[in-house]
Amino acid sequence: MDNQYYEKIKPESLINLFSQAPVALAMLMGKDFVIESANEQILQIWGKDDSVIGLPLVEALPEIKDQAFPDILLEVYETGKPFRGYKVSCFLERKGVLGEYFFDFVYSPVYDNANQIIGVSVVATEVTSQVKSEEQLADSELRFKNLILNADYSIAIYRGLDMIVELANDKMLRTWGKDRSVIGMPLEKAVPELEGQPFIDLLRKVYTTGETYSATEDRADLIVDGKLQTYFYNFSYKPIRNNRNEVYAILNMAVNVTDMVNSRKKLQEKSEKLRLSEAKYKGLSEAMPQIVWTSAANGNFSYLNERAKEYFDITDDFIGAKNFSIFIHPEDLPKVEKVWKKAVKKKSHYEIEYRAKNKSGEYIWLLTRAVPDLDEDGNVNQWIGTSIDINELKILQAQKDTFLGIASHELKTPLTSIKLYAQVLDRMLTKQGDSKTAEYAKKMDEQVVKLTSLIGDLLDVTKINSGKIQLNEDNFNIAELVDEIVEEQQLTSRHKITVEKNSVGTVYADKHRVSQVITNFLTNAVKYSPNADEVIVRSENDGANMIFSVRDFGLGIPDNKKDKVFEQYYRVSGEEQSTIPGLGLGLFIAAQIIERSNGKIWVESTLGKGSTFFFSLPLSEREN
Ligand code: ADP
Repeated sequence: MDNQYYEKIKPESLINLFSQAPVALAMLMGKDFVIESANEQILQIWGKDDSVIGLPLVEALPEIKDQAFPDILLEVYETGKPFRGYKVSCFLERKGVLGEYFFDFVYSPVYDNANQIIGVSVVATEVTSQVKSEEQLADSELRFKNLILNADYSIAIYRGLDMIVELANDKMLRTWGKDRSVIGMPLEKAVPELEGQPFIDLLRKVYTTGETYSATEDRADLIVDGKLQTYFYNFSYKPIRNNRNEVYAILNMAVNVTDMVNSRKKLQEKSEKLRLSEAKYKGLSEAMPQIVWTSAANGNFSYLNERAKEYFDITDDFIGAKNFSIFIHPEDLPKVEKVWKKAVKKKSHYEIEYRAKNKSGEYIWLLTRAVPDLDEDGNVNQWIGTSIDINELKILQAQKDTFLGIASHELKTPLTSIKLYAQVLDRMLTKQGDSKTAEYAKKMDEQVVKLTSLIGDLLDVTKINSGKIQLNEDNFNIAELVDEIVEEQQLTSRHKITVEKNSVGTVYADKHRVSQVITNFLTNAVKYSPNADEVIVRSENDGANMIFSVRDFGLGIPDNKKDKVFEQYYRVSGEEQSTIPGLGLGLFIAAQIIERSNGKIWVESTLGKGSTFFFSLPLSEREN
């Protein structure tokens, strides 16, 4: 400003300028910095009214006494060098409350006409809200950074088109298999194995188009722990914009879903394998000429092969709703239910023959076998079964039984005559003193006895098979019966038969049939212990049952054959066994007799050491 003009300006105009300027202004005069003038703005900043005019500054604002301002003022006053402060913190008492405020200000020396410094002028602007918001911004940036660093996701920020890794949290570094040294590098250098993979191009596209890219279960190959490994990520690339809305960086967030993807893949592979194996077994079952089915644990069908549907003339409607029982002959049903219940209880396989109605309404013999499919806890998932038509076999068996029945019956009469003639012959020859020839007649008689017993067995079997065996039950004392039979057997046996215990009461059964069982046990014990000379007989009473047993020290029976010896025509094979004659019927008949008398039959045996055959019968209630 030209001095000439300056001198011409009316002082009021200057005062006007001073008081109306939108900045805070004050004139502090002398070394005590007496407030010569202060405009409205500065009074507001100080939180004072114009009563402070005329007071030294530290008196007007005692709170600044220990702050830097008095010293700075003095410095300006003494040196003549103006002082500029930016965003300087100042504690001021406004309305009785001390608070921190920020200012941009200039202290300039005030000269008199003689060019002497006589005071300091103050020009100030309050920037408190700007500083506070800057602080807040810095705070929120810090919080944001911490959030990223501690996040559960892998997060990184890439700046510029070169994708400089500005920030990467530990998770992201682990994902890359890298350390902090990659921060500040372009992503291509930081993670060189990304070359040839689509990620860098995708990032550039996001950068140039400003559009977010996200992907789920995307594959990335990364070198971790020194080897290239395949991972899967759910990730996004989000553009970060400046206040001019320009993209300047990209936020990359990623979640490693490799385990999930791998386990799902495994599951898919497994279920595919399962599907294939199911298809295989289904094909197999469809190719079979037998009836193949599966059922739920409760017995209701869950699958039927074509043969089954054709055989019974049923459709898939049957599945889930019905079971075999509706086809089974009413006479066979109780037997089937018993076997089924036992199998369910034991969770073990079963095998049973019964008559079932086919599509023409005929009852046909079926042999059904089923095995349970158990889950990890041992519960039945399902039953898998097959049924085969054994009708022909059953007819042949029946024919064979009829033939055996007739043949043995027809043989009995001539045999009785032969026996009679042999006995007469024996007596006559003995009388004539021809004891040598008489011996032959005796031997003939013995052989006839054996033959009669064989024929008796055959007849019994045919009776059992046709359900015609009759039990004439009555109460009898079993101990007496045991004594009688042992005595009789001892007469013809080389073995010493010892009755170790014989203390039982009365049973209600067919005495003749029970004696047949006891005799069979005894003859077998002798027959199958050719190298031993002792047989032990016991009969005990456990309070509810009598338990009879015959122990021998002979060949014994292999473990897996023990149950089979009670089956029709079953004989244990073996070198020694084959030299011993028999039809394999005695124990079958014995088992049938005992079971029909509500008793139990079983064997304990050690191969090469001997066997003990047992049966038990309930004691008569009347005797107890
Ligand atoms: P059989 O003696 O006529 O063959 P069984 O029905 O009485 O017929 O016996 C069936 C099979 O059981 C016999 O062939 C034999 O292999 C076996 N067995 C029976 N009793 C004994 C025994 N005491 N010791 C060893 N094996 C025996």
